[in-house]
Amino acid sequence: MNLHYQTNDKGHLAIGGADALDLAQEYGTPLYAVDELRVRDNYRRVYQAFSQEYKKFQIFYAAKANTNLAVMRILEEEGSGIDAVSTGEIYTALLAGFEPERILYTGNNVTTHELEFALNSGVRINVDSISQLQRLAELPGSDGLKISFRVNPMVGAGHHDHCITGGELSKFGIMEQEAVEVYNMALDLGFRPVGIHTHIGSGILDPEPFKLAVEVLMDVAGRVHSETGVNFEFIDFGGGLGIPYTPDEPLLEIETFAREIIGLFKDKIYDYGLNNPTLCIEPGRYLVGDASYLLTRVNTVKNSYRKFVGVDAGFNTLLRPTMYGSYHHILVVDKPDAVPKENLDVAGNICESGDLFARDRLLPEVKEGDVLAIMNAGAYAFSMASQYNSRPRPAEVLVKNKEVDVIRERETFADLLYKQNLPVRLLK
Ligand SMILES: *Cc1c(COP(=O)(O)O)cnc(C)c1O
Repeated sequence: MNLHYQTNDKGHLAIGGADALDLAQEYGTPLYAVDELRVRDNYRRVYQAFSQEYKKFQIFYAAKANTNLAVMRILEEEGSGIDAVSTGEIYTALLAGFEPERILYTGNNVTTHELEFALNSGVRINVDSISQLQRLAELPGSDGLKISFRVNPMVGAGHHDHCITGGELSKFGIMEQEAVEVYNMALDLGFRPVGIHTHIGSGILDPEPFKLAVEVLMDVAGRVHSETGVNFEFIDFGGGLGIPYTPDEPLLEIETFAREIIGLFKDKIYDYGLNNPTLCIEPGRYLVGDASYLLTRVNTVKNSYRKFVGVDAGFNTLLRPTMYGSYHHILVVDKPDAVPKENLDVAGNICESGDLFARDRLLPEVKEGDVLAIMNAGAYAFSMASQYNSRPRPAEVLVKNKEVDVIRERETFADLLYKQNLPVRLLK
């Protein structure tokens, strides 16, 4: 089994050393619980794997996976940069203490206003289209600006169609065959293009498509360098490093992965005479995905046409199963190692029949009052949560060596109405 979790001397699930049952008791459910040391371990594992092969290496954490300030602070302390996909993420990253030089802004379909915000905050802008380039050029202060381009290498990969961001159906980046022209255009407009970027998709466990994209991007970089004279300060292969969600999915062997990527990279920088650019990657899921659990309590066991286990969270709390059909492994927190007994449907509390965390899942005996831990709830989990069905969003806690901090308070009914205004004519 490649899923990572720990148990304590009572045989309960432990998160950051704390008993998950106690966490649920004390802070209520649904609750997101983040294991701080797991985030740090994940970061260090990737950093070491790559930097021992090539010194000029930088990680840009893809913040959209989890934008909690505490999580971002942890990664800032570790030395990470930020991959920001919106101005809101730039704002949050600056607040979390990242210097602007360590923030790479990769927006798509951005407004001129957003470009202006990015420019004025001093972050590095990774340009997605010619339209964006031209509008950026018209902004005061953009002359001589260092920029990079996102390139679609015509290779895509990912755990779901929605997560494939390379290839001819993808809306992202400039086409590889127009790269030389676009870099020339940037030079003519007075920019200093110093980087090249790609991101082909998410949830990649098979290194082959990623390696192919690396090769294509390096070939594009080589062509741009020889035909336009651009010297690359950095080459960014994006994120997408996958984690196992089911017990028998493979682990991405990070050391082998890093060695292979860097092998390709070094060969190509030698072939094309590129001058030791910094190699960047942008993992999101890999750093935070398996560090968090969603704790949710069973309130109803119903023998209907099927046997339903009803819990106090829903797709408003964790969207992935409903949105992508994603598998999330589920443990009963007071007996995570118990032998599975029966096939159950684990259903949320939202009024939609697609609101299921698991269909036909082989689980140990589950009774009302039990607390379940939905695993791998650190990435694209809270950050996708909503108040749908007028349900306040849950609390988040951070746990380290049994010490617990509330890093986001549970919302209240008042939060449901935040920013709403009733026109005077409708007042009662
Ligand atoms: C989402 C995203 C990532 C991170 O993807 P993961 O699958 O979480 O690693 C990296 N770069 C860009 C540009 C992204 O949009």
